[in-house]
Amino acid sequence: MRKEIGALIDTLEREHALPEEGYLALVKEGGEETARLLAERADAVRRRVFGSAVYVRGLIEISSICKNDCLYCGIRRSNRACERYRLSKEDILSACDEGYALGFRTFVLQGGEDGYYTDEVLGGVVRAIKAAHPDCAVTLSMGERSRESYAALRLAGADRYLLRHETADAAHYAMLHPEEMSFDNRMRCLHDLKALGYQVGCGFMVGSPYQTPVHLARDLKFIERFRPQMCGIGPFIPHAATQFADDPAGTVEMTCRLLSIIRLMHPGVLLPATTALGSIDPFGREKGILAGANVVMPNLSPASVRRKYALYDNKLSDGAESAQCIGELRARMAAIGYEVVTDRGDYRNC
Ligand code: SAH
Repeated sequence: MRKEIGALIDTLEREHALPEEGYLALVKEGGEETARLLAERADAVRRRVFGSAVYVRGLIEISSICKNDCLYCGIRRSNRACERYRLSKEDILSACDEGYALGFRTFVLQGGEDGYYTDEVLGGVVRAIKAAHPDCAVTLSMGERSRESYAALRLAGADRYLLRHETADAAHYAMLHPEEMSFDNRMRCLHDLKALGYQVGCGFMVGSPYQTPVHLARDLKFIERFRPQMCGIGPFIPHAATQFADDPAGTVEMTCRLLSIIRLMHPGVLLPATTALGSIDPFGREKGILAGANVVMPNLSPASVRRKYALYDNKLSDGAESAQCIGELRARMAAIGYEVVTDRGDYRNC
């Protein structure tokens, strides 16, 4: 490993920022040794801020119906083979009740951009969850909406919103999305969400089609400046019914390296070891946690729909990925020296 790499890691840890070329060097250079040093430092920083806590969120995938046509996504509207479903308010509430009994104190409602969930309907769901479980946080991950809509949902009680920026490079964004979607609108959404007082999560896929190290450096710079409270990054995994069916998946190694960089950049950020990371490696979740991640989001959707929310091939939804198997997750985290905790786990500003 070159001496400059060690100096870059020192600077990142001290100043929580680097020039874009610095990020580029950390992404590209030094092989395993760089990754190991980054992970070591990131783990130390995380332990200083959060101790050995790993926060859990119950993920409820409320609809596979989507008006969008993101080229990489298995539930894109033009995938005729996708089995579509939509959960009712009652389905969602009973999933939350079940999750509450299992110890979950954050519920994440994610879905395609399904027109059924108007502000009235989705706001009603959020209100009902907050009424039933006032000690819980509600996170939404329902895609791009108007500022008025985000405001109405915030008023209904939503605490957090996950909307991955997908890529911080407008030209790359255009290669991954249909013409009617735009980078500018994605950015508008993220800035509106922040201004409305949500805890906001951005993020991107590692190894997405056409992605270069320069794109990754730009993603890191964007995350540095945007200062999200949460950041979702996971490997791209091809879906057979998309044009990227034969593209390679992103790697565990690069995902972990990026998780470590993001932890050093934002010590208090909530950083999940994602389902996608667990799906490409049987120890993906553990590797993500050891690299600096501190959140896992087991699946709390009703069993009958779990396989239908197929964003990519071979998506994990059983074993420790299943909310009902939180005991297995606990044991697996304990085995690597971490403790699953069930409080709301809000962002720490530090
Ligand atoms: N409609 C919501 C939720 C999208 S699904 C929204 O637009 O935010 C959540 C995330 O899954 C997406 O942001 C995307 O980054 C990821 N995803 C979609 N297809 C994927 C694939 N083939 N491989 C890995 N991740 C994928």
